[in-house]
Amino acid sequence: MKRSLKYTVGVIGLLVIIFLFRPTASNTIKTSTNEPTFHIVLIGAGIMSATLATYLAELQPDWQIRMYERLDRIAGDTSNGWNNAGTGHSGFMEMNYTPEKDEQIDITQAIEIANQFKISKQFWAYQLKHRVLHQSQTFINPVPHISFL
Ligand SMILES: Cc1cc2nc3c(=O)[nH]c(=O)nc-3n(C[C@H](O)[C@H](O)[C@H](O)COP(=O)(O)OP(=O)(O)OC[C@H]3O[C@@H](n4cnc5c(N)ncnc54)[C@H](O)[C@@H]3O)c2cc1C
Repeated sequence: MKRSLKYTVGVIGLLVIIFLFRPTASNTIKTSTNEPTFHIVLIGAGIMSATLATYLAELQPDWQIRMYERLDRIAGDTSNGWNNAGTGHSGFMEMNYTPEKDEQIDITQAIEIANQFKISKQFWAYQLKHRVLHQSQTFINPVPHISFL
């Protein structure tokens, strides 16, 4: 008798624990049937989202893309021209990309940046050719650069 009481109390205790820690977030999220669906949702309307959206629109023109921005305008944060230095470069001009290690200059990172910048230039050239962008001078201009030690 004592043993079966212990067993019953144990089972009830287990059920109480399961009830208390049951997953409450597993309920189905109700959505409106009229709610539009998108293939891609981009959070933030800075240069990264804009670039990714441009790539995706080129590769998958039939995809629905939605971009959300918390500010009242696009490129209002870091991508705003007044909030960054406004330079696009191959990585040779910033000496932190060519650090000195064991009395040798390590150019690994500079090469990586140079490759990335080359891809960017190809991307812009493609956009100019296809009239997505119209005048290169409105967004990129070569300028001489000197680094002082
Ligand atoms: C001082 C400084 C100088 C720089 N100089 C250069 C330079 O010379 N050359 C260069 O190539 N790069 C430079 N950079 C870096 C470059 O500006 C950034 O890497 C680039 O702008 C980042 O773009 P992003 O789209 O990732 O971010 P952001 O432009 O910051 O865009 C992110 C967007 O997301 C929005 N957002 C955030 N949270 C939410 C949310 N929950 N919901 C909706 N929207 C949200 C923000 O409002 C913002 O508009 C510089 C950066 C700084 C800070």
